[in-house]
Parts: sequence; C-alpha cells; structure tokens
Amino acid sequence: MPHGYNGKILAVNLSDETIEVRELDERWYRTYFGGSGIIGKILCDEVAADVDPLGPDNVLVFACSVVTGAPLAGFNRYAIGAKSPLTGGFARTEAAGFWGPELKFAGFDAIIIRGTAARPVYLWITDGEAQIRDAAGLWGLDNWQTLEQLKADVAEPKARIVSIGPAGENLVSYACVQTDLEHFNGRTGMGAVMGAKNLKAIGVRGTGKLSLADPDKVKEIGTWHRERIKTHPPNIGLHKVGTPGLVKGVNDAGFFPTRNFQQGQFEGAQKLAADAYHDTIFDSRGTCFQCTVACKRRVALDDETYPLDKRFGGPEYESIAAFGSMLAIDDLPAVAYANQRCNLLGLDTISTGGVIAFAMECFENGIITTEDTGGKSLAFGDAEALTWLVEEIAAKRGLGEVLAMGVKQAAAKIGNGAERYAFHIKGQELGLHDGRGKSGMGLGFALGPTGGDHIETPHDVAFQGEGISKLNPMGLLDPIDPVKMDGAKVRFFYVGQKAWGINNLLGLCNFCSVPIHAMTFTRLVEAVQAITGWETSLYEIVDGVERANVLARVFNNRCGFTPDDDTLIRRWFEKMADGPLKGVRFEPDQFRQWVNLYYEMSGWDSDGRPTRGKLFQLGLDWLPEASLSV
Ligand code: SF4
Repeated sequence: MPHGYNGKILAVNLSDETIEVRELDERWYRTYFGGSGIIGKILCDEVAADVDPLGPDNVLVFACSVVTGAPLAGFNRYAIGAKSPLTGGFARTEAAGFWGPELKFAGFDAIIIRGTAARPVYLWITDGEAQIRDAAGLWGLDNWQTLEQLKADVAEPKARIVSIGPAGENLVSYACVQTDLEHFNGRTGMGAVMGAKNLKAIGVRGTGKLSLADPDKVKEIGTWHRERIKTHPPNIGLHKVGTPGLVKGVNDAGFFPTRNFQQGQFEGAQKLAADAYHDTIFDSRGTCFQCTVACKRRVALDDETYPLDKRFGGPEYESIAAFGSMLAIDDLPAVAYANQRCNLLGLDTISTGGVIAFAMECFENGIITTEDTGGKSLAFGDAEALTWLVEEIAAKRGLGEVLAMGVKQAAAKIGNGAERYAFHIKGQELGLHDGRGKSGMGLGFALGPTGGDHIETPHDVAFQGEGISKLNPMGLLDPIDPVKMDGAKVRFFYVGQKAWGINNLLGLCNFCSVPIHAMTFTRLVEAVQAITGWETSLYEIVDGVERANVLARVFNNRCGFTPDDDTLIRRWFEKMADGPLKGVRFEPDQFRQWVNLYYEMSGWDSDGRPTRGKLFQLGLDWLPEASLSV
C-alpha cells in the first residue's frame, strides 16, 4: 500500500465516453512526483507536437502530487496541463484551494482527459468511481451559477468543483479554470481546452483518508510549520494584507508595470495599495486546505456601478497591476469589479489586463480607432473601457473577438504596426513584474516553458543581503543585486529556478514553502519522507524538478520553439523611462550570451536542446530524442 499517493490515475476518453483506471508503481511516482513532472511525462508520451490544442487529440491533465492532501499548510496545489491554445506549446498552471486534496481523498492522484464529448458534459468523481454526466443545463452559466447548480445536481454540498465560464465555452485563448471562485488555474488557456472538449466541470467528493508513512512525524512537522508561519515576517505580511501588500514596495522600487510597460511607477499606486484596499473594499480573509497563512482576500461593496460580492474573490497583486497600473486606472472598485467579472466569466486576469493594455496603446497610436470600438474611447485610465472590454472578450463580440486571441495573434490580425505594442513571451502575456528591476525573473520569463510566467522563477529582491541565506542549502552563498545582470545572476536563476520548481513539482503553495516562506529545505525533505516513507533527499527532489523542466523543454522543441523564443519583450531592451530604475535596460547581445550560458549550465546544446547526456542523466532515455542511433 503506497503512502501519500493512491497509485491510481483516472483516464477519461470523452469521445467514446470510456473511463479506465491506470495503476502505476512506486518507481513511476518516484520519477515524476506530481504537478509539472506528471504533466511533462504525459505530454511527451501522449501528445503529438502537431495536434490542434482545441482538437480531440489534445490531452488535458489534472495532476496532484505524492504529497498533496497531507495535513500541512500549503500541501494543496494541483496543476493543469495540455498543449496551450495561447502559446502552441507546453502549458501548465497551478491553483491552491481544496480541489486537489479532495481528488486524492476520492482515490485518484491525477486525471487524464482526451477526446471531445459530443455534447456538454461534466465529470463526477466520488470515492473511486467516476461518471460522465450531461451538462446541457450548465452550459452558458457563469462560474458561480455552475457551482451552485452542479452541487444541487449531485446533491453533495461538500463537492469541490473546477469549472469554466462562458469564456472557456467560447474558446477565448486565455480562458481560465476556477475552483470555489477563489482559486484559479489562470494561465495558458486551459479553460479553452476544457471548452473545446465540451467539458464544463469536474466535481469531486472523497471521504477516504491519505495514508501517511509516519503520521506522528507529519504531525510534528505540521505543528512546527504553523508556529513558524506565525513568526516568519513574509507570512505575517501575507496574512495581514495579502498580496496587495506588494503594490507599494514594487512601485517604490520602480518596477510596477505601468501603461503597458511604458513606465515602472504609477502615479495612482497609492490608491491601489494595501491601505486603500483595506479601507474601501476589504471584507474578510479566505484560505486553502490546512493553511494558516490565509492570504486570500474577499471584497464587498454596495455600489451601483461596481457592486462587489464577497463570494466572488478579491483581486490579488497580479490583478491589481493588470487592471490598475497597466491601464493607468487608479479606481480600486473598478479594478476589483473587473477582477470579479473575470472570475465569473472565466478569464485569466493577467492575460486580460495585458490584452487590454495592448488595445489601449494601439488606440493611443491610432492603430485601433473609434471605428473599431463603436465610438468608445480606449484611452489609458478609462475604467469604463476596462469593464466593457472584459465582457466583449468573454463573449468574443466585436473587437473582443480579435482580442480573445491574445496579444500575439491579435497583433498579427490587426497589423498596421500593432506588434510594437504586443508584449508577450512565447505567446503568453506577462506576469506583472518588470524584468528590468528583477533581472533573474527576466531570465525566468524568457526561459520558462510557458513564457511570461511569474510562478516559474524566484523574485530577486528576496535574496539581497541576509536574504540569500534562504538559498544557502542550495549552494548559493553570495547576496545578489536584483538589477545587475552577469554570470552570477545566471547561476542564481539556474539554482533558484530549481528551488522554486520544487513547489511546482510537489504541488506546494509558494507562500508557505521554500525558499522565501516558512518552510525550510531540511524540514521539507523530512516531510516528504514522513508522508511517503521514501528515504528521499533534496538531491532526488531537485533531480525531479530538472526532469520536469527538461520534459517541458523537449515538448516545446517538438512544437517548433527555438532559441529566438527565449527572449524578452522589446520594451525591456529599451531604457526604463522613469523612477529609480530610469535608464536601466537589458542589452540584447549580452542577454543572448546569458541565455547561452544558461543552456550550457543546463546541459543543453546551442539550439537549446537538452543533450543526450542530459537526457540519460535524468533517466529520460525513453525519449526518442535520446536515441543513440542518431
Ligand atoms: S498561502 Fe494563501 S494561496 Fe497559499 S495555501 Fe495559504 S491561503 Fe492558499
């Protein structure tokens, strides 16, 4: 009997409505662990590079890990992956909440979905059983209505549900997947892949218990972790003010993306910051399975124009920047309302903000005009334009139909120089951090497999001065300068990406885990040992992180990505216009050298392809790319 995991993965074919259970052995789990590892393995094994992301041959994976659902703060995330309709390459997006643990308690570690249903359906999973059910009555509903109705349909108020809104049904390229209206698999368009498969939702209810190899040890680590969360300053801050607490520091430091990355400081930042948030829209805190950090914000406002309901999720830092500074909007209720509408409609707020910022800059430059908008202004700062475009995009109406493609494809369609204002990496709009102020994160945006992903990389600013001690166990001893770009920074990113990647492999919340928050590497390894019973080590886990990263890289290479895709946005090669970072930029030729240095550190060739030696070293010799006969 395995500990920590079930040894079972549900495989569903929606085309012929068959369901099978795959039973996998310890060796498989100890190789791929969960999240990013399982998704990489399934995509490289089962998805041809030329499949249509919205066709029946794309495979959608929901993956927990060998430790998901253990009674420890932050051991609750699951990841969704597939070939992305937004980037055309590797997709992976994580969310916390309660759904992942519930799937484990229902007897499964992951779900693999292929095919396309002939009619709208949902999947209902409960205690080792799964059914494909008719979702005709759910199609067209927003995410809140779907949650309410599906719980009534299955007569199970404790069901945990992931679902898509109208944006996913309409195949918006950056449609997201949500659970409990507070947790979002936001990035890479997994809501569109669900929509294309006619899969409206997956409901789960499990009454089983996770078997733990050493329950007393897990309990002891849990007590230690909760006590440390109470005294660890970053966790205290998250509990008190949540991620909106980042707004002031990021703006003061000069890397708060403003007006589509034209500036690094926003004159209205104070009106978006934590104090204003608390004074105007804050209602209460939310949390996830077993978590005592409780960083989630709920908002409420009795307002005719921007009514806010505490059930529909409050904006995090990323959404505040996406709908606030990026669009030069300092009206917090408007920002929170746009976030609420995205949550209900099922749109990724980061990409939606990036797309609207692109449209506003095109409008500023006469590339999009009032003829395209039916007479509406899209000027920066116009909150009405924001809320209007959110609805148009989700419905794929008018200009919204073009913008629903994401900035890369929208710019190609619009033409007339629109590409100059279309900021994406590998086709995905960027997380809201200006890389000129965090050069390691800039490398992560360029080199992460999904492109522009702020969950791929460590944030440089946390590792200045004494802060580097958090990475001492990974061999990084010297403090870093957040802005400076040199070989030492490439090493920092190379190592830091692996430290951060542990969370994507094991499904841990970054805000409870290593390297910034309350967990330590030593205690984390002890936790994995106590949960699984494996005599594992930091080495074995980091090996798993690298294996996952290489699988994602191999998949992207098969999809046609080249070193030219490992780059930054045009604006970051230009000098920052304002603030403390005024004049700072990445130098293009030097940046290419740093990317090449990363390839060399990683055991990749000059085309960014992992060498056969690297594939064999990671036990990936089953990949065709490792063939010794070529
Ligand atoms: S820190 Fe926040 S996001 Fe992470 S598990 Fe806790 S409540 Fe959820």
